[in-house]
Amino acid sequence: MKIRTRFAPSPTGFMHVGNLRTALYEYLTAKHENGTFVLRIEDTDQERYVEGATQVIYDTMKLAGLDHDEGPDVGGEYGPYVQSERLGLYKPYAEQLVNEGKAYRCFCTKERLDELRANAPEGEVVGYDRHCRDLSQEEIDAKLAAGTPYVIRQKMPLTGVTTYTDLVYGEISFPNEDLDDQILLKTDGYPTYNFANVIDDHTMGITHVVRGSEYLSSTPKYNLLYEAFGWEVPTYIHLPLIMGKTVDENGKEVVSKLSKRHGSTGFMDLVNEGYLPEAIINYIALLGWAPEGTQEIFTLDELKAQFDINRISKSPAVFDYDKLAWVNAEHIKNMSSEEFLKHALPFYEQAGIRPDCYELCEEILKPRITKFNELTDKLAFIGTFADFDISLFEHKKSKSTLETSKEYLTKAVPVLENTEWEREALTEAIKKIAEDNEVKNSVVMWPVRIAAAGVAVTPGGCAEVLILLGREESLKRIKASLARL
Ligand code: GLU
Repeated sequence: MKIRTRFAPSPTGFMHVGNLRTALYEYLTAKHENGTFVLRIEDTDQERYVEGATQVIYDTMKLAGLDHDEGPDVGGEYGPYVQSERLGLYKPYAEQLVNEGKAYRCFCTKERLDELRANAPEGEVVGYDRHCRDLSQEEIDAKLAAGTPYVIRQKMPLTGVTTYTDLVYGEISFPNEDLDDQILLKTDGYPTYNFANVIDDHTMGITHVVRGSEYLSSTPKYNLLYEAFGWEVPTYIHLPLIMGKTVDENGKEVVSKLSKRHGSTGFMDLVNEGYLPEAIINYIALLGWAPEGTQEIFTLDELKAQFDINRISKSPAVFDYDKLAWVNAEHIKNMSSEEFLKHALPFYEQAGIRPDCYELCEEILKPRITKFNELTDKLAFIGTFADFDISLFEHKKSKSTLETSKEYLTKAVPVLENTEWEREALTEAIKKIAEDNEVKNSVVMWPVRIAAAGVAVTPGGCAEVLILLGREESLKRIKASLARL
């Protein structure tokens, strides 16, 4: 059997990381077995139209690298793949069930249904009382002849239990008496969300359904539809919630469903904050799935190879922003030089880095950043040099004071002026000053670096800072700083 999975988002204009994880697991479930991954847009039940919302889905899938084999934008044999373009398709299926006695037309007015609800005992949710389930044929014919609007409801079994096995949660049972005679087709002839979902999954040949655990309890209703049609039920893989952690006023850790208060929850928001799509995907893959070994950093291809639906956990995962940052840093470290440059270039250009320094920059920055946007701050000293606080020259660990700084900058200037502006040569020249004066290297390096950079923290050490600034700028700054001592 060839696996066919689908991601069936409703266009809300926002891709929560939980939805993205669903998409990823659908993708991996299919791709691990060389199966087909379908994108279907579920836009029937939309309360209001959100401009550009479908585009957000396409953009996310593309950026995340989750290429679908079939979908509205790429086509396929089972289209259309947008529910609102399939509206005519559902009615015959509902009629079929009516003809087979498995569904019925319900002519109850909104007023009657409202009254039912209003008369329900306090705090109880009562379903439909099945008033039209056993109308006589004459009654039905008369209503139809009078043009009475109706919905089509499914006849749910009144006794027994519906049981199914979820691949993650195991056996799930629901007493049938708790199931409402659900509406399949509304008065306007359009399907309800649940009905369209089942018809679509079946007609699109979907074999595995991956979705959030909030659907666990409605799945028996889906299954009874499959049963009514005599269709094979897909394999279900329900995923636990993604949680977030906060600390309450007493310093106690509180875990709750991941939301804005924990941080960004949208894929695009995380991307805009500087997380790499491939790192987000890597991290999200681990929210509920554990590989066999200890490997934590994966490319999408590695995930495809290693993903195993039997290793999905039902315990809710906690979204950890620090861990995401770590994963991001690891992806940066694994980048080729070309890739690194592609991401770093806008920051280099903004900071005014000379192209001959790109390689040096990569060497000193690659191991030290968790996100590329940190480059703005890290390289800011290159473009700006202001009167910094001269107490920066004082540094215990380097055995540097204002006096030693003045002394060694005075010694360093003529030496630097006569040194080739090359990393090794500059390092040696500075070390030699320290050696000749029998002091630690840092006694010379600290003030030179501070005098040139004007900030305490720089990527790379003294020689690297001098190279990045260039000879002329370095000497100019060092002399200006010395003059302030
Ligand atoms: N359209 C549903 C959602 O966005 C998908 C439900 C399903 O996968 O069956 O939650």
